[in-house]
Amino acid sequence: MLEKKKKFIGCIVGTGVGDALGEPVEGCTRIYLENYNVNIPKLYLGRYTDDTQLTIAIAESLIRAKGYDPDVLSKRFIEWLDEPPIGPGRGCLTSIYGLKNGVHWSESGSDSGANGCAMRVSPIGLFYHNDIEMLIKAAKESSLITHRHWAAICSGIVVARAVAYLVSNDVLDIDDMINTVADSINQDEYKEFHKNLLKLKDYLELPYKEALMELGLIGVQPPFFDQRMVGIGIIHPYAMSTVLSALFCFLKTPDDFKKSVLEAVTGGGDTDTVGAICGAFSGTWNGIDNIPQIWVDGLIDIKKIVSVGEKIWETFLECQI
Ligand SMILES: [Mg+2]
Repeated sequence: MLEKKKKFIGCIVGTGVGDALGEPVEGCTRIYLENYNVNIPKLYLGRYTDDTQLTIAIAESLIRAKGYDPDVLSKRFIEWLDEPPIGPGRGCLTSIYGLKNGVHWSESGSDSGANGCAMRVSPIGLFYHNDIEMLIKAAKESSLITHRHWAAICSGIVVARAVAYLVSNDVLDIDDMINTVADSINQDEYKEFHKNLLKLKDYLELPYKEALMELGLIGVQPPFFDQRMVGIGIIHPYAMSTVLSALFCFLKTPDDFKKSVLEAVTGGGDTDTVGAICGAFSGTWNGIDNIPQIWVDGLIDIKKIVSVGEKIWETFLECQI
């Protein structure tokens, strides 16, 4: 049985490694990566981006407040502006500048449906893995601070619930995992996400390329959808397409961090975020010891990132008493 502590650290480090693997090829299409024979591991410089920065921010806010506190989280988000942000999304940045200028967190969020909540929410899944009611409340509210669109909120619940499932279980039953995660979003406003999440079981029968060409654009609507995106291999930054693509890559080879994350960043488009979310799933499931050492050692700020994983584990334990 894998120690839960190793899963906690694996989640945070997995996020960083997946993010850094995707960073050099962000915006490239799958077809471009194929045609030019791009060797993604060779480009690895361990440079993480906003996905990892904000995952650390959420983890540190949970550690500071000994649980989810929107005021503490908002303050930590404001501190991120001075780090400074690496490759942030616009919805995220404008919302957090709003917070800094005195807008309350309940009103600061943009109407963006992008993946900004999903990419950073995994520590909430770790911390509340045995309190699903609180997990859903915290995931939802943590999205509202920057992203108020239903797809963004829903994607946050899905990622956190999936991480919680992976912490709590020692045997992976894929159908049971998909059903359990789908149950957490089984309500009218999330019905499109719910339906597509259940369809993931069918997608898992398909090869990576075929599945990701579709999943990468699933639910994307005009004006964000453009016919020219079809067939070139883009995983869109829309919250639903990003999260379903990342979950697909994890579930296809759940015991193989390297394979899952490399497939995730080969999908094209928002590669750092798809890599980060897939890395969070696979890092949680496989634990820190099963992430390729060369990527762990090469990740910038690795000591700090491991220590964030350790501290969130210790804080979780403290709060159980
Ligand atoms: Mg990024």
